[in-house]
Amino acid sequence: MSERFAQFKLVLLGESAVGKSSLVNRFAKDRFDEFRQSTIGAAFLTQSVRLEPDTVIKFEIWDTAGQERYKSLAPMYYRNANCAVVVFDLTSSTSLGRAKSWVKELQLQASDNIVIALAANKADLTSKRQVDREEAAEYAREAGLLYFETSAKTGESVKEMFKAIAERMPIED
Ligand code: GDP
Repeated sequence: MSERFAQFKLVLLGESAVGKSSLVNRFAKDRFDEFRQSTIGAAFLTQSVRLEPDTVIKFEIWDTAGQERYKSLAPMYYRNANCAVVVFDLTSSTSLGRAKSWVKELQLQASDNIVIALAANKADLTSKRQVDREEAAEYAREAGLLYFETSAKTGESVKEMFKAIAERMPIED
């Protein structure tokens, strides 16, 4: 049986230190390093997801730096992206505010059919949670986003999130 293969561009956006690089590291290498260097500008890597029975989706992942000084570079990465993961830290309500403004920007400026997932990261830090799950999920529903509560540290829902995005990619027969 022949395999179907398709490649898509994915961009990660979100405030600095919410865990973007850690999520990519967990997804691509199944690892978590507590003391990673922060991303300068943007980092690139690829990782594939297998969808049963015979489809392989390869993501070209652009992990952008969250610092304000790199903000003007973001359009270069999301302009022709097929999908985006907008990340916030569920122990920081200001990071959710920042995520919402990235979503707005994407919905105005990125391609019309971009698939956006909202990742509420650091789900392992339950006692420090500042963002209510229902509120965030409701916002995501209204804005037409996939919503996952993830932990790059434990791996919770990380593969599931990328798989759900892969399942929404347009694949031609
Ligand atoms: P980025 O700037 O958004 O790429 O964030 P990083 O991936 O560099 O992570 C920022 C900090 O948060 C680092 O100290 C990570 O170890 C930590 N971190 C990232 N994801 C998680 C997570 O899911 N749980 C916990 N407890 N810490 C995390």
